[in-house]
Amino acid sequence: MSDSTDPAPVVEFRSVSKTYPGGVRAVQDVSLRIRRGELVAIVGPSGSGKSSMLNLMGSLDRPSAGHVLVDGHDVATLTDREVSALRATRIGFVFQQFHLAVGVPVLDSVADGLLYAGVPARRRRTRAAAALARVGLSHRVHHLPHQLSGGERQRVAVARAVVGGPAVLLADEPTGNLDSASGTAVLTLLRELHTAGTTVVVITHDREIAAALPRRIEMRDGRVVADTATEPTRGALG
Ligand code: ADP
Ligand code: MG
Repeated sequence: MSDSTDPAPVVEFRSVSKTYPGGVRAVQDVSLRIRRGELVAIVGPSGSGKSSMLNLMGSLDRPSAGHVLVDGHDVATLTDREVSALRATRIGFVFQQFHLAVGVPVLDSVADGLLYAGVPARRRRTRAAAALARVGLSHRVHHLPHQLSGGERQRVAVARAVVGGPAVLLADEPTGNLDSASGTAVLTLLRELHTAGTTVVVITHDREIAAALPRRIEMRDGRVVADTATEPTRGALG
């Protein structure tokens, strides 16, 4: 059944469901594994449960049923404090809306990604500069967010997400607010990070974007309806 040479999954869902107050069943009985080094698209129409899945993967939310394991930790067994630490050190987030603090220079925004990881201030700035170099923004480190194009802002957000060397980078519609050229540049960047070893999960409603990624998990009405990496069923129910 399990292969001992198999690397431990970075994210594992075991029969996960999420029902919101009011009764919306956003995620229904989803089981999946994402292994270290994968580049995965979660694709599906609006309302199919993609963001709910990402929130569960990122321990921003807890499941109503089932188990979510991140980097080998069952989120349900952790205290709130431990979940915060897991999130701060092992998970990088990129959102459609960039979420860069107004009036904060790019270098500081990225350095702040290390605030909760116990990295001393000077070291934070050195590492932030290196992360900005990785995303091709060494010439913009002293800019403010409003002085950047949308594509550049998203690259800053990616730098902030990877500066701590997370186990997984979770990106929710990262190109949703970008023109197609900037969107392509951000996707190229995510691919480069993947090639360099980062595990990346990209959520998108865009089938073209998904089609270009090596593994696709398709969502419909809260369920996984297709997974290009689906293993043979294990014959166990529940
Ligand atoms: P997607 O990202 O694929 O568009 P979501 O995960 O955001 O889908 O939403 C899935 C379903 O759950 C939708 O019907 C949505 O309206 C509902 N939903 C999402 N978040 C909440 C919430 N916080 N409370 C109640 N319902 C929600
Ligand atoms: Mg969404």
